Amino acid sequence: MIPFNRAAVAPHQLELVGESFTTANLSGDGPFTKMATQTLSELHGGATVLLTPSCTAALELSALLLDLASGDEVIVPSFTFSSTAAAFALMGATIVFADVEAETLNIDPEQVAQLITTRTRAIAPVNYGGTPVSAKIRALADEHGVLMIEDNAHGLFAAADGRPLGTIGELSTLSFHQTKNITCGEGGALVINDPSFIERAEILREKGTDRARFFRGMVDKYSWVDVGSSYLLADVNAAILAAQLDHADEIQARRAAAWNHYHDALGSWATEMGAGMLEPAAGATPSYHLFGLLMPDHATRTDFLAHTKSEGVLAVFHYVPLHSAAAGRRVGSAPLGCPVSSDVSDRLVRLPLFSDIKVEEYERVAEVVATFGR
Ligand SMILES: *Cc1c(COP(=O)(O)O)cnc(C)c1O
Repeated sequence: MIPFNRAAVAPHQLELVGESFTTANLSGDGPFTKMATQTLSELHGGATVLLTPSCTAALELSALLLDLASGDEVIVPSFTFSSTAAAFALMGATIVFADVEAETLNIDPEQVAQLITTRTRAIAPVNYGGTPVSAKIRALADEHGVLMIEDNAHGLFAAADGRPLGTIGELSTLSFHQTKNITCGEGGALVINDPSFIERAEILREKGTDRARFFRGMVDKYSWVDVGSSYLLADVNAAILAAQLDHADEIQARRAAAWNHYHDALGSWATEMGAGMLEPAAGATPSYHLFGLLMPDHATRTDFLAHTKSEGVLAVFHYVPLHSAAAGRRVGSAPLGCPVSSDVSDRLVRLPLFSDIKVEEYERVAEVVATFGR
């Protein structure tokens, strides 16, 4: 069976983990956190980066920074992972679901423009599959004085017109879950593009203490100064992350090779089938996070997934729209409906694309796909 996902192991990953044990500095903000953080900061034009235990934790930290009060609203796309909405709902926000655009599968600026109210505190778009969210979202946030928090779990290494994704929101978040391009098992990061959030983010992440200021010698003892939680990534995990980031060029090259092979090998098959392929936006540098096919209808997708599975290839679908999920209906609503999210959710397929995929694996996947319906 060719799996949908298999984690890549960077060649010196074990060595760095071993070193982490030798220095006996396993908890957060140790030397490997510094290494990984510096690389991530450079990838985001020098922004401040805080490693977290997950992208979900980074989204929660963003939500805490908003100081949400009852009745405050956060606008999120319906077509995303639960965390994008759950993190804000957990901190008390009412979730307003917007539909996605059919071309990009990113939050629809036309809907967002209509959904912004005086209670809106933030818009939290996703760069789906590493496709840059519309610049109109930044403009809307500015116009209405609300924050933009980019869920950039798919967009590390991607850029729009040369600008790295994850740098246009005041805050953005990354995931290093095993299913993402770079992984340390479970992990994430908060990228802080607006420096006014740095000091409080450090405090909220450190159980509400000013420990970070203490370590920089800015206060002579640290104490409890605010609410907070524990959102640090263990340094032993950061050692894996640092090794993977060192190895990022190889990882991205392999993902690009698989993506390009699918794209070249399946073009005429897709046309014949009436299937669509998710394409990178014009002027964008892709992240090669996923390879998506849009089957003509739900029944064809069901047959397609059965076909690939019977041939030993594990292709999968993606999100069940959040506005229609049980929790989504409890914590929010979709005042304008989300027909595109529902439709795409019924038809989308993702092919195996992972950081150590082998040539014979992606060639076999393409062969299996191309025999469907022929
Ligand atoms: C994977 C993912 C998350 C959650 O990431 P974790 O690191 O597992 O918390 C959030 N949002 C999106 C869009 C994702 O794909």
